[in-house]
Amino acid sequence: MTDKKLTPDEVAAQAQAAAVEAMMAKAFSNRASTTPAGDAPDTPALDTQRCGLIAIVGKPNVGKSTLLNALVGQKVSITSRKAQTTRHRITGMKTVGPTQFVFVDTPGFQTRHGNALNRSLNRTVVGAVNDVDLIVFVVEAGQFNQADEKVLSLLPAGTPAILLANKFDLIHRRGDIAPWLQMMQTKRDFAEFVPMSANSAKDVERVFGICEKYLPQQAWMYEADALTDRSDRFMAAEMIREKLFRLTGDELPYTSTVIIDKYEQEGNLRKIAATIVVERDGHKGMIIGDKGEKLKRMGTEARHELEALTGNKVFLEIWVKVRSGWADNEDRVKSFGYE
Ligand code: GDP
Ligand code: MG
Repeated sequence: MTDKKLTPDEVAAQAQAAAVEAMMAKAFSNRASTTPAGDAPDTPALDTQRCGLIAIVGKPNVGKSTLLNALVGQKVSITSRKAQTTRHRITGMKTVGPTQFVFVDTPGFQTRHGNALNRSLNRTVVGAVNDVDLIVFVVEAGQFNQADEKVLSLLPAGTPAILLANKFDLIHRRGDIAPWLQMMQTKRDFAEFVPMSANSAKDVERVFGICEKYLPQQAWMYEADALTDRSDRFMAAEMIREKLFRLTGDELPYTSTVIIDKYEQEGNLRKIAATIVVERDGHKGMIIGDKGEKLKRMGTEARHELEALTGNKVFLEIWVKVRSGWADNEDRVKSFGYE
C-alpha cells in the first residue's frame, strides 16, 4: 500500500484548517475566572479593588444593549428589532468579587441619514470610546460590512479591543464560521475573539472573566450594588420610547422622542406625565391607534416595566404632540436631552 501524496495546495489547506481549529479552540475555551455571585459582595480592601470602563460598540442592531442588560442583570438599556433604539450613552455596572465592571452602551454609529439627531448620536459614540480601558466591538457572527468597518475605523488604536461575535445561535455549523474568523483577524489585532449569544446566560457569564484582566487595579467608582448612573426620570422616558419602538411600524420611531413633563413621588407611588413628540400630524394617529388602543397598550407596558424597575406603584399619563422637523433642528435635539 502506498501513501497518497498530498498536493502543495492540499498541504496548505490542511495547515490553514489546523490554524483555524486552534483559534476556534482558544475562543471557545475562554472561561470565566470569577463567577458572578447573586448577592452584592462584601467590599474588599481598597488596594485589592479592580475597576475599569468597557465600551460596547458596534453598528446598529448587533445586540449591544441586549448584552449590556444581560451583563448588568437588569434592563438598563432599551432594545428592539429596529436600528437607532439606543440614543444615549448608557452606563451599566456589575461588581463581581473584587472587580467592578463599568460598561458603556452606545448608539450604533449611524451612516444612513445626516440629520441633527444622527450627528448627535455619532458624537456620543466617538466620545464614549475615548478614555476606556477596554473596547468590546460587537458584530454579528459571520457578518462584516461597511457599517461595521466604519465603527472599527473609529476605535483608538492604543486601547485593547475584543471582537465579540454575537448571535452565534444563528450560525448552524461551527465550521461555517472559520473563513470569516480568519478574515476578521486581518481587520485589527484583537485581544480576544469571543463567539457567543447575548441571549445565553452561560455565554454572558464568560464575558466577565474575559474582560477582567484588562481592567486596572483601582478603587471602585460606584457602590457595589449600583446598576446604572441614569436617573429614574431618564429611565421612564426610555421605557416609553422602547414601547414606541416595539409597537409601531417601521418609519415612526426614528422621528419620535419622549419627554418627561412631571415625575413626582408620593410615598410608594410615582406619578409620571410624559409627552411623545412626533414630526408630523399624520404620525399622531399612528401612535394613538384605533380608539386610543395603541397608546393605551404602550402606557400599560411601560408602567409594568417601571414598576418592576422601581419597586413602586406607577401612575403614568402619556400625551402626544407634533413638533415638525425636530430631528433636523440642532437646538430642539439638544433641548430634548441629546448631547
Ligand atoms: P443594538 O442596536 O446593538 O443595541 O441591538 P439590540 O440589543 O437592541 O438588539 C437588536 C436585536 O437583536 C433584538 O431584537 C435582540 O433581541 C436581538 N439579539 C440580541 N442578541 C442576540 C443573540 O445573541 N441572538 C439572537 N438570535 N438575537 C439577538
Ligand atoms: Mg442599543
